[in-house]
Amino acid sequence: MKNEVKNIDISGQKTVTMRDAQSAHAAGASRVLVCENSVVTPSARDFLAQHNIVLVMSGQGKTATQSVHKESSGATGSGAYGSGSGAPKGRNASNPKLFSTPEAEAIKKEICEVGRKLWLRQFVDGNGGNISYRIGPNEVICTPTLVSKFDLTPEDMSLVDLEGNQIAGTKPRTSEIFLHLEIYKEVPEAKSVVHCHPPHATAYAITGKVPPNLIVPEFEVFVGKVAISPYKTPGSVEFAQTVLPFVKQHNTVLLANHGIVCWADTVTHAEWYAEVLETYCWTLMLASQLGVPISHISEQQGSDLLAIKKKLGLPDIRFDTSRMKECQLSDLEVPNSIALNPTPCDGNTGRPSEADLEMLVKSVTDAVMGALAAK
Ligand SMILES: [Zn+2]
Repeated sequence: MKNEVKNIDISGQKTVTMRDAQSAHAAGASRVLVCENSVVTPSARDFLAQHNIVLVMSGQGKTATQSVHKESSGATGSGAYGSGSGAPKGRNASNPKLFSTPEAEAIKKEICEVGRKLWLRQFVDGNGGNISYRIGPNEVICTPTLVSKFDLTPEDMSLVDLEGNQIAGTKPRTSEIFLHLEIYKEVPEAKSVVHCHPPHATAYAITGKVPPNLIVPEFEVFVGKVAISPYKTPGSVEFAQTVLPFVKQHNTVLLANHGIVCWADTVTHAEWYAEVLETYCWTLMLASQLGVPISHISEQQGSDLLAIKKKLGLPDIRFDTSRMKECQLSDLEVPNSIALNPTPCDGNTGRPSEADLEMLVKSVTDAVMGALAAK
């Protein structure tokens, strides 16, 4: 743990780039002071976080000085980022003390448990996936970068503000935090965000298609219509903002060529939605191999499920009748859905049935045996 802090003041710059971050690191900085109005590129933020350099937003017009302060990280119990002086002041001031409250400790444990669920269910590989919880108006607890979700411990967690600045925690925060933060800023009801790469749901995400509706009741109630956001490079703010058109009316979004993201009122519930979506996509794929058409529940039965969903307070774009008519509860005709209905095994499909194939094999075998016998 460092006892001394070296500040590098670049608050005169309008933009802070990766090169600035690298120069600050080379100069031995432990804090970089920037103007709160300046733009810090995501790669610069990540580089600073990965090198345990705190980004300090100074107030407009305030002159930060290069100085050495005493900092005892143990004093606040919140680790290398925990002095609190790294938090932006004023409108977006954040409170690093929220990182060590009894509520925060319980949330950290819940995040670890959910991380292990994600890993055990093969929803994350390597250090993939990330989990967060909004513990205050401007404070979010999140998983660190480069740690397997199976191995998470409460001590690994980070605290960030809504702009992605790390304000507490000993490990650098996930590089995909901006995806979470955009959702928190857009949806006040969102208390937790889980991002992962479950294989069957991701299979849909790489086809650019969403699963159809009105097939399995649990999916209708807990997830319902899934949106798909366009592909952008993960970790960038541009990527994070791709979900903005969807997150108010969908608690689950497929991220094209990447994975999924879910939000909920608790960490556990956000992970449940990932499970519900993944199992649904998997079930559809299995059903498509059975050789018979998938049967759907009726529009009226779908309306009954939507009524249950409304009572539970869960979002669904189908509540917005100005955007979607009741007759579109089932989206079989809606572009961008994929029904995965298998080709019927009989009828005029152009494909031979199993009985036809058996007859064909038998007739060829008979012909060959007959020819051999004639010799
Ligand atoms: Zn990812």
